[in-house]
Formats: sequence, C-alpha cells, structure tokens
Amino acid sequence: MPKVYLSPPYHYNNVCAIPGCDENKHNNEYLDELVVYLKACGIEYKRGPRRIAKTAGNGDQMMINAVAESNAWGADLHYISHTNASSNGSARGYHPMIYPGSEKGRKAAECIIEERRKIYDQSITLIPRSDLYELRKTTAPAVYEEHVFHDNEADARWFHNHLRQVAEATARGMCRYFGVKFVDPYDKPAAPELCSVSLPILRQGSNSGYVRTLQILLNKYNNAHLTEDGIFGQGTYNAVRAYQRSRGLTVDGIVGAATWAQLLC
Ligand SMILES: [Zn+2]
Repeated sequence: MPKVYLSPPYHYNNVCAIPGCDENKHNNEYLDELVVYLKACGIEYKRGPRRIAKTAGNGDQMMINAVAESNAWGADLHYISHTNASSNGSARGYHPMIYPGSEKGRKAAECIIEERRKIYDQSITLIPRSDLYELRKTTAPAVYEEHVFHDNEADARWFHNHLRQVAEATARGMCRYFGVKFVDPYDKPAAPELCSVSLPILRQGSNSGYVRTLQILLNKYNNAHLTEDGIFGQGTYNAVRAYQRSRGLTVDGIVGAATWAQLLC
C-alpha cells in the first residue's frame, strides 16, 4: 500500500480573500476531502498537524517535525498543500513545485497536473525550487502544491467551491503515479444482484416452492396457463421448453442458472 504524507501549512498569517478564511483553514478542509479519496483508493496516509487561527505553535518547528515524521515513516510521496499569494491580489494560477532533478517528484506532479487541467482553466506551471525546506529535506519525492492564489478573490472562490473536485483530481493523479486503481468513494453501491441469488436446478419430478415460483413466472411471462401447485409435471416441462425456445435458450426442459436468470432479471 503506497504511503503519502500530507503536509498542510504551519505558518499562520495568510488571510484568504474570502472573509473568515485563511490559507491554513482552506488547505486543511481540502485535505479533509482528499483523505476520503485516499482511503477509498487504498493509499495509506499520515497527516501533519492542523494549525488554525489562534492555535498556538511555532510554524518553523511544526514544519521541521512534519518532515522528520514523514522521513521516519518512510513515505513514498510527501505532499505539501499550500495556496499562493501575489503582492497585489491580481494573479491567478496553479503553480506546484518540485525539487530540481527529482524524477519521481516530477512524475507525481505531472500526474496530478494532468487531472487538474480538466477542471481548472487558469495558468498551470510546474516550478522547480531548491530553496524550500519541505522539498529539500524530505527523503520521499515531494510535490509542493500552490493550488490557487488565496489573495485573489476569484481564485480563492474557485478553490472553495471545488475542494472535493480538486481532491478527486489529486487522488486520480496519485493513483496513476502509484499504479493503483482509482476508487470513487461517492459512487453509489451497485444494486443488489438479484441474478446472483443461487436457485436450485428444477426438472421434471421436482416438487417444491421453487417449482411454484417457476410456474408463477411462466404464467406471468409466457402465458403458460399452468396450475401453480409446485409440482413439476409434463405441463410444466412443456411450458419450460416453450419458454426456453421463445428466449433463445437451450431447449432442455431443465431450469438451471440461464433459465432462472432469464426469468428473474
Ligand atoms: Zn479560503
């Protein structure tokens, strides 16, 4: 099972353009969505601490601890979730970063970017950076997200409105990177499989409630005019053969899986 370390922002002072929000809050909410997908896809994860408004803590130390934890755990991918800011709030775009020369980091980022492109129409640029602690000191290949510009209202709003879609895109990208099958946790479970119910094989001479069910079904679906008495006699035999012939089944007068499935499904 692949192991991903999820690292939210630890420095607390970056106000989001959406009132009441900040970089730490919306990135942690995004990671809350992402872990649902990772669980469904069988990707193991460990997550750095959630530092939110007014929560005490030393951001530098939290970051150092998170990297140490990721390395000690033996993560296969170190995934840093941040949002960006420009000087005047005019910039938009998705600018993930990797450590220069990290082939695996690049591959992971490209897998994630490929999915993001499908839902985000602003500029997307992959940026190699050698100066960032979490890219430099992590043993695992690392992807350092800068999802949107949180000081741009349109970009911040897009992120807020697409947390789940971004999480799904990331999970799809990670699945491709690791070569595991993507499983959507929000897919409805398959309808109960009536046809997988195991039913007895019926033939002439059978005598049971199942035969009565068979007679009811033949009367209903093939206008067989059988007495619904649960006794598989000549009349039922003939009716089964007529039904099998009419449905393109093997005409043998024996009600096995194929005939049951045709009657019930
Ligand atoms: Zn926000």
